[in-house]
Amino acid sequence: MDVFDSVIKEIRETLPSLPLFEEEPMAKHSSFKIGGPVRAFAVPEDITSFSRITHVLKKNRLMPLVVGNCTNILFPDEGLKELFVISTERMTNMFLLPDGGIYAEAGVSLSKLSSFACQNSLSGLEFASGIPGTVGGGVLMNAGAYGGEMKDVVESVVTYYLPQQKLYETLNENCGFGYRKSAFQTIAGCAIVSAVFRLESGDREAIASKMKELNEKRREKQPLDLPSAGSAFRRPEGYFAAKLIEECGLKGYSVGGAMVSDKHAGFVVNTGTATSHDVYDLMMHVRNTVWQQKGIELVPEIIILSPEYKLTDNSPDAPLHIISGNPAASETDPLE
Ligand SMILES: Cc1cc2nc3c(=O)[nH]c(=O)nc-3n(C[C@H](O)[C@H](O)[C@H](O)COP(=O)(O)OP(=O)(O)OC[C@H]3O[C@@H](n4cnc5c(N)ncnc54)[C@H](O)[C@@H]3O)c2cc1C
Repeated sequence: MDVFDSVIKEIRETLPSLPLFEEEPMAKHSSFKIGGPVRAFAVPEDITSFSRITHVLKKNRLMPLVVGNCTNILFPDEGLKELFVISTERMTNMFLLPDGGIYAEAGVSLSKLSSFACQNSLSGLEFASGIPGTVGGGVLMNAGAYGGEMKDVVESVVTYYLPQQKLYETLNENCGFGYRKSAFQTIAGCAIVSAVFRLESGDREAIASKMKELNEKRREKQPLDLPSAGSAFRRPEGYFAAKLIEECGLKGYSVGGAMVSDKHAGFVVNTGTATSHDVYDLMMHVRNTVWQQKGIELVPEIIILSPEYKLTDNSPDAPLHIISGNPAASETDPLE
């Protein structure tokens, strides 16, 4: 019996109805439809179950990987035999606050969040309605499209810091938001559990029509019929990755089952049989070619997990040093 066996046994005893899968293939969950099995995959439905799972993990010195809809991650074909994944996809509470803000848990999909805002005549989230991720993944990545970003609409974020088993609230200005970046990315063991969104009052019809227009644009330009993880590379300053890739003659270029989309060169798609190695090799070929021909370095936007990937606790004593000094930071133990 290894540490995972005993952890899984204890979690099953503590939370008998929790969906908890062993040797779960990540191809079943990732938008790329790629990835071998992880040791365990748990799907809590609220912060209490979430914290109970992490309590058992912490006792056994294990750090889980927290994911949302897995629309921005490439998992290795070999699987990750020492990884415990917690998905927030069932943590989907969402409601309107008395002051007009929207409270949404980490697993709420960005499309449901923007539809909810529209139903309540709140404008600002139209850009997010076609992004297939969740509030947790969207905030962590500062997801954005068509001129909007999460940083424009997030008022505050509640995180659960696993090493301390405590909740923290962080205001927008302390979230370290930048282009596809937030401070939460740099802190191992920092799980986003919910966020509050501050939006403008607007006209419901106009909001709905903007969302429709942006989603049509997406369908027209992006290869939504094939599995992918969205834009493969970040936008280099002053350029567009897709244009550079196309100018290098790489549209439609493939390695095994992975292909630079012939519809939108910024996307790498799985044509049916792609392995994570195919995607990785293709991305490296694209990167090298663009560097050789254009002298511009492309940096992956997709999170690529190697077979050796392990989560380590990188800041046990100063968990939130990046957002320390936040006057709004409050601590509560959800188990109390
Ligand atoms: C077809 C398609 C179109 C896309 N279009 C866009 C776009 O227009 N703009 C854009 O920005 N992105 C786009 N993406 C990428 C992706 O949808 C976004 O990055 C999204 O925000 C990721 O959310 P997720 O829930 O899927 O996160 P995941 O892929 O599950 O995770 C992404 C990262 O966030 C972490 N994470 C997830 N949830 C939590 C949490 N609760 N707490 C702590 N860490 C967490 C994960 O560990 C991982 O590091 C697209 C993807 C696809 C497949």
